[in-house]
Amino acid sequence: MLSKTISLGINGIDAHLVEVEVDTVRGLPGFTIVGLPDSSVKEAKDRIRSAIENSGFLFPPKNYIVNLAPAEFKKQGSNFDLPIAIAILVHSGQTDIHTIPYPMVGELSLDGTLRAVQSTISMTLTLHKKKFDHFIVPYDNRYEANAIDNIKIYPAKSLNEVIKILTTNTKPFTDTRQETQKYFSIDFSTIAGQEGIKRAAEVATAGYHNFLMYGPPGSGKSMIAKAIQGILPKLTKNQAIETTIIHSNAGVLPINSGLITTPPFRSPHHTSSHISIVGGGRIASPGEISLSHNGILFLDELTEFQGFLLQTMRQPLEDGVITISRAAGTSVYPAKFMLVGACNPCRCGYIFDPEIECTCTNAMIRSYYSKISGPIIDRIDIEHYVPRIAYEKLTNNSGTEASATIRERITECRLIQLERFKNRNYSFNGQMDTEDVRKYCQLSIEDENFLINSSQKMRLSARSYFRILRVARTIADLDKKEDIKKNHILEALSYKNLPRNYEMFLS
Ligand SMILES: [Zn+2]
Repeated sequence: MLSKTISLGINGIDAHLVEVEVDTVRGLPGFTIVGLPDSSVKEAKDRIRSAIENSGFLFPPKNYIVNLAPAEFKKQGSNFDLPIAIAILVHSGQTDIHTIPYPMVGELSLDGTLRAVQSTISMTLTLHKKKFDHFIVPYDNRYEANAIDNIKIYPAKSLNEVIKILTTNTKPFTDTRQETQKYFSIDFSTIAGQEGIKRAAEVATAGYHNFLMYGPPGSGKSMIAKAIQGILPKLTKNQAIETTIIHSNAGVLPINSGLITTPPFRSPHHTSSHISIVGGGRIASPGEISLSHNGILFLDELTEFQGFLLQTMRQPLEDGVITISRAAGTSVYPAKFMLVGACNPCRCGYIFDPEIECTCTNAMIRSYYSKISGPIIDRIDIEHYVPRIAYEKLTNNSGTEASATIRERITECRLIQLERFKNRNYSFNGQMDTEDVRKYCQLSIEDENFLINSSQKMRLSARSYFRILRVARTIADLDKKEDIKKNHILEALSYKNLPRNYEMFLS
């Protein structure tokens, strides 16, 4: 008799229901899996046979056929081991179970123990959406699965424990674990003498604006970038679920962890491979730009990254997603990150330094500038020069604000934005579309003329004009003002201070 159970497969970032059917047909003993399994699923056969025998059951020598339906998407990974094994045991009448009531996933070891699988949280979410209310998962995935409300989770350590869950009245798992808020050890209070850049970082973070710091070596640009992590507010529940889904899908969620509640901070090196940053690979996996979703993507030495890579970042910077095309199909991953970049203003770094002389030739400056001004600069909302400051001054922390205080202001400012954009598919000023800019960034006629004239004088593009309005909105929100005033515009304009063309660089 045919035996059936429900499991789940992963396609891109989404989990899909998969019906696992087991039957035997005439013929010599065998084991065939159909329904578009890839090689990793086919490897399941030996694990399943060994796990069944080592759990005290028999693996009757018959000709098994396993069907994974629907056949339209490729089944990857080891998550079908458990449902196939259980269906075989039910089919061969070795348990008291006749129909299998709960969906399940899990990889089997040869001895019958269950190993964690990736993307359990996406699977739980799909089951919840499809009105299932029970789910059997490997023990090490229990917190992740239990992060979704209103579905009962049954963690199991082995094949035998799963049989026990299915045949006795087992209580569901009730403990939830949230990652405790871990902040990077650099506190803003330990960075003295950089008040301008700290304010710029606060505005950028409050409104989710892309942020570029440029300055000579040793000015503390990467230290400031790392300190920004400490002023990011905790993720909302929805953001935490989205972030955890991506990290679990990429296989970087530590075992036994629950929801990620701290915004991610990712800083890939400029020598990292294109796939590791953008995502992709034979079995598609999210890259750094998706792992930084709802957090920060920090590109130190921005000009050292390949031009092609920076070009690829245009789509996520505009749309908040990245589309990855492979032979097996197209996957779309979320990639709504705040870009924080740092670079030298010229090859040697000292072009604007009052004390150290720049050793670059005009040709070197021209070629370097084309790298900064290329694909990225139009998508940066806030640019800020970071001057070199004597080390003693940099670490003298008298009278400066602690990260926790700044974080409180940013959290309040973000609440205003979350309320403003509650019916949108974005949440922050930095992500506003032009229609919303027109609605929420209205200026008096006098201020509008002032901004238009200033933009022309500063040779800013039309795109930059809208970016300034978005930043001015955030500054007004930090100021708890409904209307954008001239002082907000002036501050926003001051964050467009990278010379707009190469000649201005030389003057
Ligand atoms: Zn130079």
